[in-house]
Amino acid sequence: MKKQCILIFSLCATFTLSSLFCNKGGSGKKITFLTIGTGAVTGVYYPTGGAISRMINNKAGQYNIKATVESTAGSVYNVNAVLAGDLDFGVVQSDRQYQAYNGLAEWEKTGPRRELRSIFSIHPEAVTLIASEKSGITSVNDLRGKRVNLGNPGSGPLQNSRDAIAAFGLTEKDIIAEYVKAVEAPGLLQDERIDAFFYTVGHPSSNIKEATSGRVNVSIIQINGPCIDSLINKHPYYAYATIPIALYPSAKNSEDIQSFGVKATFVTSSKTAYNSVYAITREVFENFEEFKKLHPSYSVLTKENMLQGLTAPLHPGAIKYYKEAGLMEYIDKRLIQE
Ligand code: GLU
Repeated sequence: MKKQCILIFSLCATFTLSSLFCNKGGSGKKITFLTIGTGAVTGVYYPTGGAISRMINNKAGQYNIKATVESTAGSVYNVNAVLAGDLDFGVVQSDRQYQAYNGLAEWEKTGPRRELRSIFSIHPEAVTLIASEKSGITSVNDLRGKRVNLGNPGSGPLQNSRDAIAAFGLTEKDIIAEYVKAVEAPGLLQDERIDAFFYTVGHPSSNIKEATSGRVNVSIIQINGPCIDSLINKHPYYAYATIPIALYPSAKNSEDIQSFGVKATFVTSSKTAYNSVYAITREVFENFEEFKKLHPSYSVLTKENMLQGLTAPLHPGAIKYYKEAGLMEYIDKRLIQE
């Protein structure tokens, strides 16, 4: 009996120790595991999480950090999971970062989430409306009475879709609204089970490629005009966006598509360890050219514009790197809380 107890104890001890201290090459250093929340696997957040994790994992020996990526419901989920400590980092739309930090939209009930911290921004995201030709939809106004996916709860796009239809004087009651995940929307459109869907996403994205390259002819619909001008004027986080049609050769449009949009940003919580944030920021910026090659939607990135579009204060680990790299002059002073 005693022998059995000792055996069980030693097994438990081995298990506990190995989960705390994973020896890499016998160095005996403690590995910090970090998770990055993204979005649907067919969006751009998922490969973005992959690109960021690749940068840091390349230097696993130096930092003893191993980052992994999780596919999630999207921006709103990511903010909440990061603040709850279920994720270490999240990719989040810039408008959602603003709303969470200021207690708006989904965060009206919880109040301002002041523990949210920004790190950098990434690619631009356009509010993208895509419709089957057969539906006859050529503008947001035509969505009346149609089956339209607005986005799943927990996603960033849901609020953008609501804002887009509201700008044209429509409510969810004027359409047959669906709330399914982005990953399912192209299939539903191609199966003619919906007429259109919204997705706020970087371009090109495999989701929109999938939606445009099936049996059913589809077009990407312009979201522009005076209604959108006033929407952009009203909200500091919205800007004009253009989707180059060349990215989707199978779509039935012939011209670039005008819309509005936001930016993808990389966030964490004030509780996240200084060293982890510093290491990730450093590796992304120090290997900037390599990072840019990891997704075509990063082609417009500059180190300077990756410091724009942020609302929540910068995490001190990121500030440490920006100081070292001489990038502080590009940073809005309101983001610095020291
Ligand atoms: N913007 C979307 C969201 O916040 C995700 C888009 C993507 O995965 O690229 O849910």
